[in-house]
Amino acid sequence: MSGAFLNVTGLVKHYGGVAALDGCSLSLAKGEVTGLIGPNGAGKTTLLNALTGLAKPDAGTVTFNDVDVTGLPAHRMAAIGVVRSFQIVRELSSLTVFENLLLAPPHQIGEGLLRAVVSRPKWWAQEHQNAARARALLERVGLWKLADQPSAALSGGQKKLLEVARALLLEPRLLLLDEPGAGVSPPLREEIIRLVRELKAEGLSFGIVEHDMHLVGEVCDHVHVLAEGRTLVSGTFAEATSDPRVVEAYLGLAA
Ligand code: ATP
Repeated sequence: MSGAFLNVTGLVKHYGGVAALDGCSLSLAKGEVTGLIGPNGAGKTTLLNALTGLAKPDAGTVTFNDVDVTGLPAHRMAAIGVVRSFQIVRELSSLTVFENLLLAPPHQIGEGLLRAVVSRPKWWAQEHQNAARARALLERVGLWKLADQPSAALSGGQKKLLEVARALLLEPRLLLLDEPGAGVSPPLREEIIRLVRELKAEGLSFGIVEHDMHLVGEVCDHVHVLAEGRTLVSGTFAEATSDPRVVEAYLGLAA
């Protein structure tokens, strides 16, 4: 694919006797939104995990900008710009929306107590910078008015927006989203669609695992349909969804 910057070749991942990925090959293009769709159990989440250091592939290769990054741990993938959004877990949901955004930006001066004391002015400057950045990101995703609310009080869609804001803290070049439309009300789904388009226009690339075909059709330039751990069909949304093999796979009739 022209402009491809993440390439997956022959990726295999077994869980016991189950081949979650069974020779999966595909590419994600720079500056595009790529959808990863397919029936339940097709291997979509396993692929995201393998691309972000959460599942070590048994075989195959992943390259990013022509560099072999197969099996790198999550923090190293994030450092090169491949970031995945994460569900706000129970511990984080007791924090406010704003506090969620203050947690763990990379390369904190205040990480070590001694360093924090020695470089106090720098530390204050960084705290100020972090707070400003947190505010800017919350404004960007439309959650600033809820900054003081506990994140547990957010709706499903607002939580997804918070997850995106947290991922943006890491300044990704490729942002991988796992079902951003799941459990989201129609108005907030439109908000997520707007945000993805806006970030894409600024040069961010996306890989999106999604079952919500409205969302996929609205934002994806290209889709890969996975079935049984492999790429079944690739193309535009219209091409992929009208392909008889895809219809069969979704009906559970794939050979
Ligand atoms: P869904 O759309 O339902 O989320 P998916 O396409 O994301 O499905 P995966 O979650 O990647 O599919 O699962 C692919 C296969 O691998 C399934 O058969 C699943 O049961 C299995 N699998 C995934 N993760 C594990 C695990 N940690 N342990 C055992 N089996 C797993």
